[in-house]
Amino acid sequence: MADARSAHDTRDLSPHSWLVAAGRDRRPDAPLNVPPCPASNFVLGGQRAYARDDGTPGWEALEAIVGGLEGGAAVAFASGMAGIAALFDDLPTGAIVALPDDCYQGVAGLAMAGQRRGRWTVRRIAVADTAAWVDACSACDLVWLESPSNPLLAVADLATICGAPRRPGATLVVDHTFATPLTQRPLALGADASVESVTKFIGGHSDLLGGVVSVRDPKRLAALRHARELAGATPGTLEVFLAARGARTLAVRLERAQHNAGILAARLAVHPHVAVTRYPGLPSHPTHEVARRQLKGFGTVISFDVHGSAAAAEAVCATVALIQHATSLGAVESTMERRAGVPGQEHLPPSLLRLSVGIEDVDDLWADLDRALRVAVTR
Ligand SMILES: *Cc1c(COP(=O)(O)O)cnc(C)c1O
Repeated sequence: MADARSAHDTRDLSPHSWLVAAGRDRRPDAPLNVPPCPASNFVLGGQRAYARDDGTPGWEALEAIVGGLEGGAAVAFASGMAGIAALFDDLPTGAIVALPDDCYQGVAGLAMAGQRRGRWTVRRIAVADTAAWVDACSACDLVWLESPSNPLLAVADLATICGAPRRPGATLVVDHTFATPLTQRPLALGADASVESVTKFIGGHSDLLGGVVSVRDPKRLAALRHARELAGATPGTLEVFLAARGARTLAVRLERAQHNAGILAARLAVHPHVAVTRYPGLPSHPTHEVARRQLKGFGTVISFDVHGSAAAAEAVCATVALIQHATSLGAVESTMERRAGVPGQEHLPPSLLRLSVGIEDVDDLWADLDRALRVAVTR
């Protein structure tokens, strides 16, 4: 793949340039982008024998791009959950896990299933309760942070928590799928691992599943690669190609979508049919101050409760035309869904809508949303 000299040179670039320049083969005649490489096995005698063990040039391109951005080395997985499962699987039997009260339902589902089977014990902690997290660092084997959290967008005080003394052998992980490594860098703050669902912002086009875990410690890197090899949680050929292609435009997509989200959040906050608007950029958000200190941008996801019942919220989803009624986030197209309708999320306010803002024209988005709220919600 990229030769050592060019890899070294590009490390000094700003993240925006790095996203464009990293993960390329710079030898004469090489394609500018590492092409899709459908290969399971290779002619013996070189670096690679079998793809599940030794990787492909396509995985390595994606890992080079994301690892450099995170300030560590990345291991690409078949999905975000595949990478997350590898981290949980590493725990000794009887381990204690600290998990946010608000987090991705797949991670909560995995953690609770392990507890039911007697693998580990889970302690739920409020994202904003920094003192409880600091205590958890010295008492738990796995400290799992998700920031900003899904879907309440609570921002954890990562600088304080990642810097707190940890129990020997403990692992502190930050899932920052909602932030991206352009907005915060957990490894630099002291996290042992950072997780991204590549399915979301890095892919950015709702057309792939992928995940990456980034670490700085070479032992953890080797362990993650080994876990991927043994579980067969390998990323797909086309998926890593699309993800690397998506990464090239991450910075401009994020900038535009974040700009749109800031405007929509401010308008939703004063809309007569909206009861609560949650966006870390709003001064009314409970963790606004931490977000302001910590994040280079407040993200593209807004969650808001419409007045009325679940039915009113569903009616808003059924009425929008430009915004897609769909799950997931971080894509070029805006998507919206009622989160309490998602299995594992029934505890959320029934009329909470999670809106992932895309790169469309903000006035078109607002016209769509405002019309849907006026048609579907009656007070
Ligand atoms: C989507 C998501 C995941 C899971 O990623 P997949 O690629 O769907 O497996 C984990 N954490 C967060 C915060 C997510 O949004």
